[in-house]
Amino acid sequence: MRAMLFDGVGRPLRAAQRDTPSPGPGQLLLRVRACGICRTDLHLLDGEVRIEHAPRILGHQIIATVEAHGEGDGAAPGASEAAGAFAEGERVGVPWLGWSCGECRWCLSGRENLCPRARFTGRDIDGGMAEHAVADARFCFAIPGGYPDEQAAPLMCAGLIGYRALRMCGDARSVGLYGFGASAHILTQVCIAEGREVYAFTRAGDEATQAFARELGAVWAGASQERPPQELDAAIIFAPDGSLVPLALQAVAPAGVVVCGGIYMSEIPAFEYSALWQERIVRSVANLTRNDGREFLALAPDVPVQTRVTTYALEDADAALADLRAGRFHGAAVLVP
Ligand SMILES: [Zn+2]
Ligand SMILES: [Zn+2]
Repeated sequence: MRAMLFDGVGRPLRAAQRDTPSPGPGQLLLRVRACGICRTDLHLLDGEVRIEHAPRILGHQIIATVEAHGEGDGAAPGASEAAGAFAEGERVGVPWLGWSCGECRWCLSGRENLCPRARFTGRDIDGGMAEHAVADARFCFAIPGGYPDEQAAPLMCAGLIGYRALRMCGDARSVGLYGFGASAHILTQVCIAEGREVYAFTRAGDEATQAFARELGAVWAGASQERPPQELDAAIIFAPDGSLVPLALQAVAPAGVVVCGGIYMSEIPAFEYSALWQERIVRSVANLTRNDGREFLALAPDVPVQTRVTTYALEDADAALADLRAGRFHGAAVLVP
């Protein structure tokens, strides 16, 4: 199969031919139809999030069809049943959480996203920047009909982890989104459907992205350094810039929550206690649980979430990642192998 390989930090991905992987018990062999790219892929390329074993195939927003089921004994509890639930030819999605242990205190309390032994797609397990992939059926999702493959791909991380971040904002009526990329463009639609107001924050002078946010229904869009026209109930920071944390704290009302939505962020500058005073909260959101996925994928067609995607050939993965880094598209980028 054709695949794009990560060889090491700071090096471009390498196009290569690899043997098609064989599914083990409880696993599915998948034909990748589309694979979204994510800011996490940039953090992997830059070494801000570590890959222990290279070469590795990145990509954790996979939409695929089932080609075969792994045979034999030794499947993990529930894996054979999960695999049996997906027929050959059926469409599935594979997210960032590729495996969790199922027996630690985090897994047993509905917090498998925090499992210390968790394995992540496109970091610890080969991902979707290839023609084929293998996935543990227990961690695959059924994909709602009506979404073309490319449009469904950004739901798998940008949508799903954005949704988890939004749930941490409780019943906030006014929500600030710092960094208006793939996640924010999906969440804006969810917020509006839930009767919330969205305030979009971008790099200063990025009027094209501010216009894109307004087009999607944001009531206000401006630079991250600006104060919004009213105090916000919550803010979610998607941009990996720690200096946004004190800015977001200044923008939220007492008891407001600031959720850091990325896997990596630059250092957070010191700030006065008064910025946190009055029960403001700063927290992160880490990974996803399968329950987040099921909830979000049930809700997405009702909103209905419509994703804006730019597609690239598999071999153009580096160009897609460079365009993401430079902010050269609105919405999400998707590789089509
Ligand atoms: Zn991601
Ligand atoms: Zn666990």
